[in-house]
Amino acid sequence: MSAPVSGTGEEGSGSMETVGFIGLGRMGKSMASNLRKKGFELVVFDIAAAPQEALARLGATVAPNLAELARRCTIVATMLPAPKDVEQTLLGTDGVMAHARPGTLMLDMSTIDPETSDRIHAEAARRGMEAVDAPVGRLAIHADRGECLFMVGALPENLERVRPLLQAMGTTIHHCGPPGSGVRMKLINNLLAIVLCQLNAEALALSQRFGLDIVRTLEVLYGTSATNGQLRLNWPNKVLAGDTTPGFTIDLAHKDLSLIVQAANTARVPVPVAGAALEAFSLARARGGGLLDFSGIVDLLCGLAQIEPPRTPAGWKPS
Ligand code: NAD
Repeated sequence: MSAPVSGTGEEGSGSMETVGFIGLGRMGKSMASNLRKKGFELVVFDIAAAPQEALARLGATVAPNLAELARRCTIVATMLPAPKDVEQTLLGTDGVMAHARPGTLMLDMSTIDPETSDRIHAEAARRGMEAVDAPVGRLAIHADRGECLFMVGALPENLERVRPLLQAMGTTIHHCGPPGSGVRMKLINNLLAIVLCQLNAEALALSQRFGLDIVRTLEVLYGTSATNGQLRLNWPNKVLAGDTTPGFTIDLAHKDLSLIVQAANTARVPVPVAGAALEAFSLARARGGGLLDFSGIVDLLCGLAQIEPPRTPAGWKPS
């Protein structure tokens, strides 16, 4: 096993693990950077070159392929878009598990469906490997600052093994239960967080149609039980300030709503509002909005209704 990294200008992690990190996108690039800055020995892989180069500049090793990464690492973290990406990366014929040594731990932090996560746990056990599901709560800006929240499904000893990594990337760790509990909890979280965006969009579009002042509208909503974290914490920095760069894309929100509706159907729990929100996000994608931040759902609704999208005055912040 590798020695801890030294000479990074930061305190070494003290860990004897070599960490592989696959998926260096809006979230993964920041999370991997925080691991590296905290002194973890890091081997990275992404299908895009630019984020790999950014991590190399921080002292990470870029793996030429999954097999090489798997052979070099004792923990393999994944932060990939969708279930099929995680499945192919970990379980594929030339994927990580085909090349990793027994005892290697798969730390999947992507938002995926329970069935795929369960398959990863089962396949890890079959091969004498370990697995932890630890999807991420909060926003991309929290990932930038090392302030993620993790929802962990794991055996207690495996949580202890990854705890130093999670602490390097975040501030809050919830052990939700046995393997598979983390991804299930994440779907519950995103059911509320994403449906609330659609509700916020409808409320603010109607307030604009009524000619109500946007700041006065927000001040009223923030003072009643109608408020929510998206409206109070995320939207003032994103769409209401005119910034619809992701963040978290409408495409990913649509993916999560699809996973939620499918998982709820499998569990025989009706979720009619989530189903309606899914179709609202389908419409947003059909109108070309897939790569916007998910708060941009209000702009697309306003566009449909031919309403000027709501914007707060420059520099305005909630009190
Ligand atoms: P992203 O699309 O910005 O990044 C995904 C990265 O994975 C990209 O760099 C892409 O090149 C890479 N990738 C895709 N397929 C690959 C493959 N087969 N092999 C290697 N690399 C591959 O996505 P993101 O916003 O960073 O989200 C990642 C995951 O985290 C998703 O499951 C998302 O739902 C979840 N999540 C996102 C946020 C957020 O605010 N963005 C918050 C919490 C959870």
